[in-house]
Amino acid sequence: MGVVKGVSGRCKRCYTCVRNCPVKAICVEAGEAKVLEDFCVSCGTCVRVCNQKAKEVEDSTSAVMNRLAVEQTSFALIAPSFPASFYESTPKQVVESFRLLGFTNVVEVAYGAELIGRESKRLLADPAIKKPIITSPCPVVVGLIEKHFPELIEHLAPVVSPVLALARYLRSLPGYKDAYMVFVGPCIAKKAEIRDPEVVGLVNHVLTFREVKKLYKDKGIVSSQLPGTPFDPPYPGEGRVFPLMGGILKTGNIGTDILDPRIAIIEGYHETMEFLRNFKVSIPKQEIIDILYCRGCIDGVEIDSPLPFLEKRKRIIDLVGESRHLNPSSLPEVDLHRKFHDKRRKVAEPIEEEIIEVMQLFGKFSPEDELNCGACGYPTCREKARAVLNGFAEPEMCLPEIIKQLEKSVGELRISHDELKKAQDELVQSEKLASLGQLSAGVAHELNNPLGGILLFSNLLLERLREQQKEGGVPEEIEVIVKEATRCRNIVRGLLNFARQSKLQKSKIAVEELLSEILEIEKRSAPNNIIFVTHFDKSLPRLMLDPVQVRQAFTNIIHNAVEAMPDGGTLSVTTRYISASQQAEINFADTGTGISEEFLTKLFTPFFTTKGIGKGTGLGLAISYGIIKMHRGGITVQSAVSKGTTFTVLLPAEQEFEDNLLDSFAKNTMFRGVR
Ligand code: ADP
Ligand code: MG
Repeated sequence: MGVVKGVSGRCKRCYTCVRNCPVKAICVEAGEAKVLEDFCVSCGTCVRVCNQKAKEVEDSTSAVMNRLAVEQTSFALIAPSFPASFYESTPKQVVESFRLLGFTNVVEVAYGAELIGRESKRLLADPAIKKPIITSPCPVVVGLIEKHFPELIEHLAPVVSPVLALARYLRSLPGYKDAYMVFVGPCIAKKAEIRDPEVVGLVNHVLTFREVKKLYKDKGIVSSQLPGTPFDPPYPGEGRVFPLMGGILKTGNIGTDILDPRIAIIEGYHETMEFLRNFKVSIPKQEIIDILYCRGCIDGVEIDSPLPFLEKRKRIIDLVGESRHLNPSSLPEVDLHRKFHDKRRKVAEPIEEEIIEVMQLFGKFSPEDELNCGACGYPTCREKARAVLNGFAEPEMCLPEIIKQLEKSVGELRISHDELKKAQDELVQSEKLASLGQLSAGVAHELNNPLGGILLFSNLLLERLREQQKEGGVPEEIEVIVKEATRCRNIVRGLLNFARQSKLQKSKIAVEELLSEILEIEKRSAPNNIIFVTHFDKSLPRLMLDPVQVRQAFTNIIHNAVEAMPDGGTLSVTTRYISASQQAEINFADTGTGISEEFLTKLFTPFFTTKGIGKGTGLGLAISYGIIKMHRGGITVQSAVSKGTTFTVLLPAEQEFEDNLLDSFAKNTMFRGVR
């Protein structure tokens, strides 16, 4: 189990962890970032940068508390960076807080640093060592070299870290061989370090400062209010400077002069990575390179301190100031040796063709497409393709490509949304018409016979009365009955016509001839103050139409126009051939009352009428709509109140062979089951 792991369900796919992970030990799988233990160096960068708290550090608090409850002798080995974390308490108060947690001994790791400092100085003085030495107290640096730069292992100082040095020393003392030892510090990589087979068993657990504060909370310990007790021996000297940059060099009295050509100090994530990458390219001339992945341990991931960097640094220096000087020759001799191993997990190096193929999956077809924007977390599109091929990344992780796709689909959605709305409206309309067709067919048939009887007998009655009372005239009531019954018959006829529209009988028709015929008849019945104007496009070919039905459709439109001009006006009927779409456009423009906006959407709805009772049936436009639709045409309206209305009909100037198709369309869509 790795020290750091992803928390399921928290990842929001920002890829910040991938971007910041120095070794790309993150695998994005099913949209979630997971930590790859084989590559992870437990630096905690991903924990630090993830603001979704989607990365979790192994928690050792309960394991430690369980052990403390049963152990006779237990050591808290406190990292020298502690004053930066427990800044509200004095060192003595911190010590007492650990005793309250249950530790029998509380010792400063700085003593181990003294041992390592002296060892480093010895290594430097060893004439047998001819290559630059990289110091090894930082477990992240060790992890980086073992897992990612194993060719540098030969340069790693073959010594343990200060806490392991201290543990080895303590275990060599009488009675402490099997004592329970817990390292307490700011570093999560220490949790991995103590498990390394080379050193396992020296330190039993690692608690981070953050975990300690969690335990304080659980146990109600306020360290700043404790009287305080001193650390247990052994006592360090200036080794307390270890968590600062160059600390090892100062502790070992190797030198701190920045102009000293023998030494180099590397600290921080970027510098460390740059140094390791370039080491073999240009082998450093320095004899010893002190290197810490964080900006000193006071910057460790779990330092858990709000203090500014320099303030943290000052806390360490203050404590160093209180230290006595330790003569290296007074330090005990402890075996500090350890080995490092090549732990690199090899990954396949994909061939160029594979990379090209994968890049195409996220829209990289040419070098210009390779933006290398880093949004996916990888520095280049190629790196990302490599990661995809190794199963660590998903092709979808490309932000520019996602945006491109999104824009495309939003664009498509916009078009189809409009079309969808239109289609939906038409569907609703045709559904209404279909059910109306069914209803009207039934009702009209039922009404037709009794109505025929009423009309027949009322007419007979009217005639008989006329004959009998030649001089006195007939009672008005009878005339009303005949008139109203006639009106009923017209309505029923309309309904029957409507229901009968299910089949088109098409032939080639010259539209202008049809229109002229209709207008001729209309002129006869229309008031004199209405002028009819026509403009016919001579290029309009003859259309395949059902002349009876189209006549009815046009008649309805013209009737309405006439009715909309009670005080007179002009009706212009215009035809136009649209060759591009092979359509005939027929315009009926009147100068009548116009239609208010609220009514515009209802015009084609069956039974919608603004005409008074006994005047309109509200079926005219619904019928026209149905007829035109069955011809695969369209009808639209534009209107301005008090100015006039224009109905525009579009009919296909179609070929004859489409007839059968049209018929089946009509049967299947418009008037299902009506006949
Ligand atoms: P009806 O004519 O029986 O009322 P229609 O379906 O033919 O039924 O027309 C529905 C309504 O549409 C009419 O009542 C009228 O309000 C309106 N309308 C139709 N054509 C016009 C037009 N040219 N000018 C103004 N209003 C119109
Ligand atoms: Mg009408």
